Amino acid sequence: MYTKYFICEHCSKRFGLDAFMKEYKGFACPRCGRMLEITYDYERILANFMPAQFRHMPPTHMKYYFALPLKNPHKAVTLGEGGTPLVNIGENAYVKFEGVNPTGSFKDRGSSVEISKAVELGKKEVVCASTGNMGASISAYASKAGVKAIIFTPEFAEKIKLKQMKYYGAKVIKCGRTYSDALIKSIKYAKLNNAYLTGDYPYRLEGQKTVAYEIADQFNCNAPDNIIIPVGNGTLFYATYKAFKEMKLLGIINKMPKLIAVQARGCAPVVNAFRKNRKLRKIKNPETIAGAINCDNPVEGENALLAIKKTRGDAIAVSDDEMIKAKKMLARKGIYAEISSAAAYAAYEKMRIRIKGTAVMVITGIGFKDRN
Ligand SMILES: [Zn+2]
Repeated sequence: MYTKYFICEHCSKRFGLDAFMKEYKGFACPRCGRMLEITYDYERILANFMPAQFRHMPPTHMKYYFALPLKNPHKAVTLGEGGTPLVNIGENAYVKFEGVNPTGSFKDRGSSVEISKAVELGKKEVVCASTGNMGASISAYASKAGVKAIIFTPEFAEKIKLKQMKYYGAKVIKCGRTYSDALIKSIKYAKLNNAYLTGDYPYRLEGQKTVAYEIADQFNCNAPDNIIIPVGNGTLFYATYKAFKEMKLLGIINKMPKLIAVQARGCAPVVNAFRKNRKLRKIKNPETIAGAINCDNPVEGENALLAIKKTRGDAIAVSDDEMIKAKKMLARKGIYAEISSAAAYAAYEKMRIRIKGTAVMVITGIGFKDRN
């Protein structure tokens, strides 16, 4: 394992990984409350790692173990996540189809790392707040590991996703109108019951990074010019940024892609903040059919903004109607996407005259999970 420490990007305070996890009280900086981030010993990775290996192994999640915070990758809890197709859908446009992961969404990469960590720490119970996909994913990996899963969901969560969680054996608790309501309940539960808190936290972020490693790998160790990503909590977005930053440090790629964030018009805190050049503000009455990106107060929102600015990227909002239309258009190209994921294609359609070079849309979930 090449990990070094947790760092708070806000106040620069560092924490030893093992010591911090032993007295584990969640993942916020004890000094200023911001989310911690995991750093690696990049020099040591460079000394042990040959970029040539990229060319001789198919891209899969665990291939990038050098950039994952797992003590023993052979003991990782896995369902064969990752290794998803990169599909050319015409000209310079590509789809990275994350809907074909074991539980039907990109969340499986993060769940594999989080549940592996919970097992490393000897935890018997995990808890999570979710609008659906993450809860389903955590439930599956918890089952595989023989750990109990408790999932808090807001009222708007899709029935079909709740059914999936229950099939995996999770205890599902419906609570509150918004994602934030469920999130607060999950944190309280973890503290009271000594359960491992899963969700949009540092270990998940590390697992989500492998989608970016795979994209670069599938472009023969190059970054595409643009990557378009639907943003709910912003974890995938920031993870993609962190992964490309690491790959540049490690000499795998030589330029950063522009990162483009997409949100639903009825719940677009990151887009609003970016357009108005101000801090993130919680959305009072979020409203969209795109449940998977309906996050009123994104956990990694400030970091998503940072990633847009650092890559000279962009942020755009799309309407529910535009997403429904995009879902149909993608299906005509053979890609059956969840509404929230189709947002990436809706954004591409809106921006295509402005986009220069190659564009990859991350299609985060499969279409079976929607009512629409
Ligand atoms: Zn801090």
